[in-house]
Amino acid sequence: MSVLITNIGELVTNQPEPDARAGREGSGSGRDGAGPFAAVTGAALVIDEGRVAWTGPAPRAPAADQAVDAGGRAVLPGFVDSHAHLVFAGERGAEFAARMAGQPYRAGGIRSTVAATRDADDDALRANLRGLAAEMLTQGTTTFECKSGYGLTVRDEERSVALAAEVTPEVTYLGAHVVPPEFEADPDGYVDLVCGTMLEACAPHARWVDVFCERGAFGRDEAQMVLVAGLAAGLDARVHANQLGPGPGVQLAVQIGAASADHCTYLDGADVDALVGSGTVATLLPGVEFSTRQPYPDARRLLDAGATVALATDCNPGSCFTSSMPFCIALAVREMHLTTQEAVWAATAGGARALRRTDVGHLGVGARADLVMLEAPSHSYLAYRPGVPLVAGFWLNGQGVVGGQKVVGGEMMVGG
Ligand SMILES: [Zn+2]
Repeated sequence: MSVLITNIGELVTNQPEPDARAGREGSGSGRDGAGPFAAVTGAALVIDEGRVAWTGPAPRAPAADQAVDAGGRAVLPGFVDSHAHLVFAGERGAEFAARMAGQPYRAGGIRSTVAATRDADDDALRANLRGLAAEMLTQGTTTFECKSGYGLTVRDEERSVALAAEVTPEVTYLGAHVVPPEFEADPDGYVDLVCGTMLEACAPHARWVDVFCERGAFGRDEAQMVLVAGLAAGLDARVHANQLGPGPGVQLAVQIGAASADHCTYLDGADVDALVGSGTVATLLPGVEFSTRQPYPDARRLLDAGATVALATDCNPGSCFTSSMPFCIALAVREMHLTTQEAVWAATAGGARALRRTDVGHLGVGARADLVMLEAPSHSYLAYRPGVPLVAGFWLNGQGVVGGQKVVGGEMMVGG
């Protein structure tokens, strides 16, 4: 059944020329992934079999089995959150409050999450994970990545990636998050475990391998060992890099061909040069700087140099417990000086590039019909009205939920 969404105030496509001809599925540029930011006003879009079948000016829209009137609202590609840690137990609200009250950061916060995660049964972890995934969807995130990294034993990392695989195909094995307390005296032994038995157990459930390359976590050589082992096991690489200070993470990510170097808060000229023209996306996580009261990354320097920039939440119980991409867009605009167009592109097409996905992050013909509809006429409201829940509805793989009600074609159905 095809669905026509018409009377769209602003349709963000991230495709330079909306394909206004119907029936060209297979030849649309959408198959190659997102282009630069692009939007059409007074637009319509047709969904067929879970894919975008047509976009263009509303008066030229072809007929469809069902129609939905967008009432002048903006429609965007669903947000692509390429960095999140959602498999954990417990919470650290008191630690956050103490940090905001000026008390020094107490090392070991992450260890409390590791202990709680190890103690939790699968059902408790699953319930927390599914709750966060649902929270993301209601805020317009239709694709998200999810990391392990709070288990840090073979059993707990394996069940973490297995649980993550229940809710997303973008599962990341992050056994190299920190060295767990029981390996404090033998960090090399832990790296061996991460590259050996633990990887073997986790690789079948994961698409990505990640490492926290940072002073106090894993150094350049250890990080390289973890990534090389992951690549050999058939995973693709991504790296937590240059978050807390200058370091080798970004250059390692580029050298190894990682899809993304995440954080990028402390970069020197050589780091920026390495990212420009590479296949490695600079993924910025401004919610972390907001929640830890750290300086923001220099996003303008990256963009002006020509690097590809993505925005993600880094949703996790310690350094940033937001699941909201609209909040990150507002931060990127206000605090990192992205234009509203750059920020929305980074949160959609940028995230797709950071996950090496060509089927999401844009609304070209052939793209997955993952859409978000705003209770606003333009994408700029995401930053213009910060903190306001602006998601009026979304379509996930062609299935729509508008105003909390499931939409089958143009019919509103209670539930969903
Ligand atoms: Zn992270």
